[in-house]
Amino acid sequence: MSQRLIVLGAGTALPDRDRDNTFLVWDSPAGSYLIDCGGRAYQQLLRANVDPHRLRGMILTHNHPDHIYGVPAFLFHLWLAGYQGTFDVYANPSTLAMARKLCAALELEAHGHMCATNWHELAETPQRRAVETDAYTIFTTPVRHSRPTLALRFVDHQRQRSIVYSADTEPCPELEQLAQGAHTLVHEATVSDPAQRHTHTTPREAGEIAARSGVQRLVLIHYSAAYTMPEALALAEVKASGFGGEVRLARELEEYSV
Ligand SMILES: [Zn+2]
Ligand SMILES: [Zn+2]
Repeated sequence: MSQRLIVLGAGTALPDRDRDNTFLVWDSPAGSYLIDCGGRAYQQLLRANVDPHRLRGMILTHNHPDHIYGVPAFLFHLWLAGYQGTFDVYANPSTLAMARKLCAALELEAHGHMCATNWHELAETPQRRAVETDAYTIFTTPVRHSRPTLALRFVDHQRQRSIVYSADTEPCPELEQLAQGAHTLVHEATVSDPAQRHTHTTPREAGEIAARSGVQRLVLIHYSAAYTMPEALALAEVKASGFGGEVRLARELEEYSV
């Protein structure tokens, strides 16, 4: 089995009929990690044929509700499922604190109603090694959003190829550096107008970033045909950006291998 990034939700902060809030899973025989956590995480993993017991942990990009509201439910579900071992949760300090508060509000730890969990703070330094195994490394880098946010780069050691996930961000050089030479860039494309970006990115800007980063494939995520712009227009905007590689609009259960 190759290592792959699977989309579990692909939408903006407000779900639409086709796309729920954005979250993903990095799936590898050497250990899988949930990336952010929507409310249907456990069920979506089953639908994606990823055994939740194979997860080693989760990495949270930032503490906006659409990215972390499912954390207490997921830790509760793992406990119900008899998860063995200790589940690792990685996030920047403010996100880790918020996730722990969510669990505390539901008194999960007090009642022993969550799996054993280790909470790990990720320093907000560029190109930090967050997780390393024999098969892959996951790097994190701070990007520019309305709350402290980490983008991720998944490096497959054997194939010497990478996938980068921008998380929520406005266009920024930090993300372009992280994405240099990667095979696939999964970039958010939330808004249609740079004048009203609210620290997000447009489809055209995502295309420009992909072109400058030299990636071969661009996947637009955190995107809504209803909120951002219709699908045909989003694809036309990327084309107008000058990016000549493959372009996809992320859909649930789609997977991208490195
Ligand atoms: Zn978001
Ligand atoms: Zn956000």
